[in-house]
Amino acid sequence: MTQQTVASFFRPAVDAVPNYKPGKQPAVAPGMTAYKLSSNEHYLPPLPAVVKALTKPMTPSSYPDPAASALTAELAMYLGVGSEHITVGAGGSEMLSALAHVTLEAGCEVVYPSPSFELYEQVTALTGAVQRPIPLTPDYRHDLPAMAEAITDHTRLVLLCSPNNPTGPAITAHEFESFMAAVPPNVLVALDEAYWEFMTNPDAVNGLDMVNNYPNLVLIRTFSKAHGLAGFRIGYAVGQPEIISAIGKAQIPFGVTQPSQNAAIASLHHIDQVLERARAIAVARDKFVTALRAQGWQVPEAQANFVWLPLGELSTEFENACVAQALAVRNLGHGVRISIGEPAAMQRILEVTAKFITRHSTICTKP
Ligand SMILES: *Cc1c(COP(=O)(O)O)cnc(C)c1O
Repeated sequence: MTQQTVASFFRPAVDAVPNYKPGKQPAVAPGMTAYKLSSNEHYLPPLPAVVKALTKPMTPSSYPDPAASALTAELAMYLGVGSEHITVGAGGSEMLSALAHVTLEAGCEVVYPSPSFELYEQVTALTGAVQRPIPLTPDYRHDLPAMAEAITDHTRLVLLCSPNNPTGPAITAHEFESFMAAVPPNVLVALDEAYWEFMTNPDAVNGLDMVNNYPNLVLIRTFSKAHGLAGFRIGYAVGQPEIISAIGKAQIPFGVTQPSQNAAIASLHHIDQVLERARAIAVARDKFVTALRAQGWQVPEAQANFVWLPLGELSTEFENACVAQALAVRNLGHGVRISIGEPAAMQRILEVTAKFITRHSTICTKP
């Protein structure tokens, strides 16, 4: 069978879609504990209450609650919005995918930052829409004026990521409001806040403060990062009921299993512990950034549970140096993203970075 025959099944857009590349597992090195710092996962064990929730009796032969009503009600209480403003799905990823499907098609346009979360390119490419990736500023922030400028009569969707994965900076409330003032009401803005719990910059935008002010704003959040439930696949969107209802049409029914719903509810019941752990990770992150800068590294503002090293063409050499020390990091070709893990992992990374910068001082310390 030739390539051509196979390709003919598919919409032309499919050819343009990149495959998602997940973070690698660490290499095994004898006598060394391996650490995975490549997927921004939580490194602590689950909360005891979450473990307990998983022992609840369940009925594997029955579908889960399709509306995740109990979890939605908990979220509504926690967020201080009505249930009709929330939809729950299989991770923030499902929210992004559903949003792309209900807004985009061939002939229209989507604006998003670049580099940012790889899934933006994938889910929007699949719709056949024209993609307008807007380069970040030299300090690795969203170039919001350029993004506003890129909006045309054909634009339906803008994706924002705060803090930005993989580079780290958060959008400020002031930047966000100026941007929204320039966005026409018929363009939907999705603010992806997958890492909002780790933010410590007091100027950073909190989508919840904004969502009632803009009928064309939708927030995307997840239990994968600060809640440490990546393996359970739970995320949600917050916005006006019309947006929520439209997203629901593009979601897979029964996408969140009952054990996942139970785990998320238990986690929300212990939100104080979740946020305390997030703050501890933010403290470790700031310490790590300070240590890197003391070594001479140029590190952008880090507001999530990871740090970005803009290594350019040295990215693979750096990744290999980490692999040799049983550390998995995320090499994105133009830089390397390192998730905050246990103290021993961060210590070992700092040994790698110290050696690496002595070998490449002129390149890594460029302003
Ligand atoms: C991890 C992540 C998500 C959501 O991931 P899920 O596991 O699907 O909830 C969304 N956006 C960004 C930027 C992320 O890094």
